Amino acid sequence: MTEKINVGTKAVWSGEKEVLVHGATQVPVIVSVAYNYDDMDEWYDVAVGKKQGHIYGRNTNPTVQAFEDKVKILEGAEAATSFSTGMAAISNTLYTFLKPGDRIVSIKDTYGGTNKIFTEFLPKMNIEVALCDTGDHEAIEEELEKGCTILYLETPTNPTVKITDIERMAKKGKEAGAIVVVDNTFATPINQNPLELGADLVLHSATKFLGGHADALGGVVCGAKELIEPIYHYREINGATLDPWAAYLLLRGMKTLKLRVVQQEKNALAIAQYLQQQELVEDVFYPGLATHTNHDIAKKQMKGFGGMLSFSLKGGMDAVKILLPALKYANRAANLGAVETTYGPARTTSHVECTPEERAAMGIPEGLVRISAGIEDTEDLIQDLEQAFALLKENTVTV
Ligand SMILES: *Cc1c(COP(=O)(O)O)cnc(C)c1O
Repeated sequence: MTEKINVGTKAVWSGEKEVLVHGATQVPVIVSVAYNYDDMDEWYDVAVGKKQGHIYGRNTNPTVQAFEDKVKILEGAEAATSFSTGMAAISNTLYTFLKPGDRIVSIKDTYGGTNKIFTEFLPKMNIEVALCDTGDHEAIEEELEKGCTILYLETPTNPTVKITDIERMAKKGKEAGAIVVVDNTFATPINQNPLELGADLVLHSATKFLGGHADALGGVVCGAKELIEPIYHYREINGATLDPWAAYLLLRGMKTLKLRVVQQEKNALAIAQYLQQQELVEDVFYPGLATHTNHDIAKKQMKGFGGMLSFSLKGGMDAVKILLPALKYANRAANLGAVETTYGPARTTSHVECTPEERAAMGIPEGLVRISAGIEDTEDLIQDLEQAFALLKENTVTV
């Protein structure tokens, strides 16, 4: 696509043309596992990659390809490949490039599953993992200087929405000879394009904001063709392929990505500002607040601050147990990025595998609650919080 169009238009139109058939305006779900060839030479040429086409569903599928093309265009990438889940995108990307004796540098606050790969699975393969305090740029730079195969970043992080300077770290990472990978799930391609900031690969749990309706799992990684090809090869052999039905749901969800993100961040900011005014609230974390530690970096590298925030209550978990059930327009669930506003305590969702001591060491208070703002009308979400806080006040014994 040479024409210069904006990201919202791209989300609606891009990546679909090639797969449309019979004059249909919508992408078909092609469920066929294999493809028929009368011409033995053509079959051979497609099989060996000399000619474009499809052979077998574990490798490629037209509906899945339309999904990959849309994300690729939104991230401004040359190529993309997709996966059955976000974790498959992350693990396949890491395992494609890492071998025994290698070294990976990352941060302590990555997504829980990613953190488990770093602490449980990579060390078993004799891969050294250096995890730095999130937001401590000097510590990351020091680790990079010791040698590094992959620099793995995630920003904003889950659930305390900490920010890392992608441009600064990507530059240092490349100087160290590392492949720079960024998990862009929280920011979405609407708000942040890590490849433009110097990263080599950007990946997403498409399950979250890209799909947006909490009804399909998927993952995707984008970057230069020479990096995506080996990842695609690893995936086609290891088998974590995205299902065509899921690809269709994700693709349809993505058409409204921009509209959703705009409303979600409007709601997130309103909720953050409301919470800041509550005397029963201890702390509020949102990159869009001037009080956020790295608000300046967020402002520099993000076009908007996204729909994710978190807060803690002075009454800890006891107070959370009163406040959360009182909310009428919220799911109390483990997912995020959906059209419905979703609340979840970190100790039950993102950091369920950690002990209270480990959570404390990561700067996660026991009563921390993650909010994924939905697309509801802002005043209704605030009204909902008002009635829930009134109930909490009634139940809070003051001494
Ligand atoms: C959910 C999530 C993942 C994992 O994605 P799945 O689709 O659940 O496998 C990875 N990174 C981040 C930031 C996430 O929120």
